[in-house]
Amino acid sequence: MSENIEKQKIPLPCPNGCSKAIEISYYEICSKREAKCGRCGSKYKFGSSEASNLRSAIRDVQRKKDEITKRSEQIEKLSKEIEKYAKELEREVKDFERANERLLKSPDIELKR
Ligand SMILES: [Zn+2]
Repeated sequence: MSENIEKQKIPLPCPNGCSKAIEISYYEICSKREAKCGRCGSKYKFGSSEASNLRSAIRDVQRKKDEITKRSEQIEKLSKEIEKYAKELEREVKDFERANERLLKSPDIELKR
């Protein structure tokens, strides 16, 4: 499957101006609804409806991405099958041509007078 968006970490600048950014995943943002600076303890608190909007938007994107990944894999598999059939066809066409040549080379001939 495609990469998990919820697990992606995003950097947020500390609201108190610490030099090190807060690293937090979308999952944590949506579930905890806060992002806390590890150094000074300052935090962002996110609204619950915004967080739940973000979560459902992430799910939509994830679902579509996974679907596209899945379909791409199916297409790849089909392409390989078609390639295999094309090779078999090539071989069979050659056999067919050879059989045809052999047939036309030395037929018995019957002449009518
Ligand atoms: Zn801080």
